[in-house]
Amino acid sequence: MIHLIGKTKSELEDFFISINEPKYRGKQLFEWFYNKRESDFSKMLNFSKSLREKLQNESKVHSLSFSDSQFSIQTSTKKYLLQTEDNRQIEAVIIPEEKRTTLCLSTQVGCPLDCKFCATGLMGFKRNLTTAEIVDQYLLTQKDYGKDVTNIVYMGMGEPLLNYENTLKSLEIFTSEETRGLSRNRITVSTSGIPQRIIDLANSGVKVKLALSLHSAFEDIRSKLMPINNKYPISDLLPALQFYAKETKTRITFEYTMFAGINDRDEDIRELGKLMSKLPSKINLIPFNSISHMTPDGISASLKSTTREKILEFADKLREKNLTVLLRNTQGDDIAAACGQLAIKKN
Ligand code: SAH
Ligand code: SF4
Repeated sequence: MIHLIGKTKSELEDFFISINEPKYRGKQLFEWFYNKRESDFSKMLNFSKSLREKLQNESKVHSLSFSDSQFSIQTSTKKYLLQTEDNRQIEAVIIPEEKRTTLCLSTQVGCPLDCKFCATGLMGFKRNLTTAEIVDQYLLTQKDYGKDVTNIVYMGMGEPLLNYENTLKSLEIFTSEETRGLSRNRITVSTSGIPQRIIDLANSGVKVKLALSLHSAFEDIRSKLMPINNKYPISDLLPALQFYAKETKTRITFEYTMFAGINDRDEDIRELGKLMSKLPSKINLIPFNSISHMTPDGISASLKSTTREKILEFADKLREKNLTVLLRNTQGDDIAAACGQLAIKKN
C-alpha cells in the first residue's frame, strides 16, 4: 500500500507517471487533498471510474488515527492524541483565537534533545515522523475541529530540524499555491537551534517564519537548560539566524520560557538587549508549564515558573529597550506552553 498524503505535488506527478497516467493527475489529486480537502477517491469525479477504483484499492490515504482528545471549555483548545500505524502516540493541538486558528503539530515521537523543562524531552526519542504523518495531523484535526486552520506552528513533540527532510516536504505541501487557507507567513518552525539546518531552511525557498527556543542569552545557563547548547552555542546560532532573517526578510522570534531566579533577572534583560540588537527579532515570553506529572529529577525538578506579575514587569523592561515583546493572557492559552507537553507514557 502506498501513502498518497504526504507526497509533494511533484512526487504525486511522478507517481501517476509510474502507473501510466498523465502527469497532470498529480496536480489534480494534490488539489483534491489540499484545496478541496477531499480524501475520498470515490468523489474525485475528474478521474475515470477505473482510476478511482485503482487508487482506492492500492493506496492509503491516512496514516494516523484518533486515539483520544481533550477539549478545554474555557479556551476551546483541543488536544489530540493520534496513533501511528506502529502504535505510537503523538500529539497535535488546535488553539482558536479571535482572528486565527492555530494548529500545533509534532515532527518526532519523543525528542532526543533532553531539554530540562520539556515533557517530550523527558520521554526520550522513539523515531522521526514521516511526511505523511506530519501532514495528516493537519488534515485530520482540521476536519474534526470543523474550522479552517489558518496558522501552523511546529511546536509539538520533537525537534523539526532533526527530521529535516520530512519537515521540509511538509512545508512545501503547506505553502504550495494550491493549498487553501495557509501561507508561508502564517507558518512557524520552532527549533532548539541546529545552525546548518537553519541555513539549509533559509536556502530552501519555503521562507516560513522561524522561532528559536532561547530561554537564556547566557551560554552557561542555556547549556544547563538545553544540553544541545554545548554542541551548538548561541555564538554559532547567531550567524545562522542573521542569515535566515536576511534571506527570508522575516524577524526571528525568540521563545523564552520563564523560570524563577534562573532567567528572569536584571542581567538577563541586559544580555537579551545585547543579543536582540544584533538581528531583526522579537521575543515571546512564556510561563513555564509544570512537568511534575513526569516525576522529573535533578534540575528539572527544581524549575518553577516566574510569576505572572514578574513576567509583565520583565516585558516592560524589555520594551524600554525598544524590543518587541509578545505575551499571552493566560497560562493555558499560550501556544508553546500548551503544546508538546503531554508526553505519553505508553510510548
Ligand atoms: N523542539 C522544538 C519545538 C518543540 S518545543 C523547540 O524546542 O523549539 C516548542 C516550544 O515549547 C519550545 O519553545 C520549548 O522550549 C517550549 N517548551 C517546552 N517545554 C515547555 C514547558 N514545560 N513550559 C513552557 N514551554 C515549554
Ligand atoms: Fe526537544 Fe524542543 Fe522539548 Fe527541547 S524543547 S526536548 S528540543 S521538543
